[in-house]
Amino acid sequence: MNKLFNKNILIVGAGIAGSTIARILAEHDLQVQIIDKRNHIAGNTFDFINANNERIHKYGPHLLHCNKNEKSLKFLSNFTEWVFYEHRVRALLPNGNTTSLPINKKTLEDVYGRKFKNQEEVKNFLDLIRNKRISPENTDQFFEANLGNKLADLFFRPYTKKMWGIEPKELNIVVGARLPIRTNDDDRYFNDSFQALPKEGYTKMIESMLNHKNINIELNIQFQKGMELGFDHSFLCIPIDKFFNYKFGVLPYRSIIFEERQELLEKDLETPVLNFTDASPYTRKTQWNLFPNSKRSKTNIKTVTYERPCSMEDNPNEYFYPIHTRNSKIMYEKYKKFSKNEKRITFCGRTGLFKYIDMIPAVTIHQKIAYQFLNKL
Ligand code: UDP
Repeated sequence: MNKLFNKNILIVGAGIAGSTIARILAEHDLQVQIIDKRNHIAGNTFDFINANNERIHKYGPHLLHCNKNEKSLKFLSNFTEWVFYEHRVRALLPNGNTTSLPINKKTLEDVYGRKFKNQEEVKNFLDLIRNKRISPENTDQFFEANLGNKLADLFFRPYTKKMWGIEPKELNIVVGARLPIRTNDDDRYFNDSFQALPKEGYTKMIESMLNHKNINIELNIQFQKGMELGFDHSFLCIPIDKFFNYKFGVLPYRSIIFEERQELLEKDLETPVLNFTDASPYTRKTQWNLFPNSKRSKTNIKTVTYERPCSMEDNPNEYFYPIHTRNSKIMYEKYKKFSKNEKRITFCGRTGLFKYIDMIPAVTIHQKIAYQFLNKL
């Protein structure tokens, strides 16, 4: 008999991370029990069609983008068809106009009221305004070194402060470096060669992933310590600090409150997402029917969601963004090292790995975790 057969696996969290592991293990004849504290699968990628026929991403807009040859894309494509979609965002300026974001030639023309003949001119201009003396080590310095103070103050510093609740100089440089800076007219949010949305939504995609005879799903179940004892191995997509009773301290997270409003719009937003780069409490709003995998709204009233970042105290147990600072990295490393003592537990997902992960890297990381586990059996 196959030596893997009947090994019992517990997976806590039916998001994209846990579901990737579940599917791979199930296909290798392991018996998988997956539980989730929420009343739905798909974790933070959960989407649904509302009464007005619009596809809403309950936990904020999720945009899939990667290299077209990415292995994890091939894996996900087993569970969904795709609709082509290249994400675009406009940013609201103090004068009420909007402009392209990420920064490109048009943004600079809008902000500085001038025209550039070619990319060379844009590059020279950026070289004039940026602070070349800095070798950036944090997000604030990244903005100043690449764009200079005027653009940093207009588009990035206030937004980053309200987004993360700390000064950009406290934040790891990778956060600021997520957005490209362009010298051409390309106004797409991402550069990647594959950009799309699942045709029938993320929830359906995860549902197909979990639709396997060796996977059993239970929702509305909060993980309690001790549950893992009945299983040969457990993959826990839960906060690693909480599991160890915060023995090395509380890992910092930023939460988000999503305010859904029904708005009678005279005209659609220019792009599905509009960023508020000022110091107001909101970071962005999303008009859902503008995404190509939404259905047409039944009425002129459109659902628009405003995002208001907040502390964990203001939105208990709703973990969104791990806050990567020097201290939090050191603290996480202690938990990671300590967790190696738990031979029958693997921590996964954003909160288990304390990692700010986009969807495709999340799949890649968890494919690797699943295959490493299989190889050790
Ligand atoms: N950012 C900003 N202004 C913007 C958009 C982004 O300052 O209008 C900064 C901010 O620090 C943010 C980071 O760039 O956290 C990454 O932005 P991204 O849109 O990738 O964040 P996400 O979609 O993951 O919230």
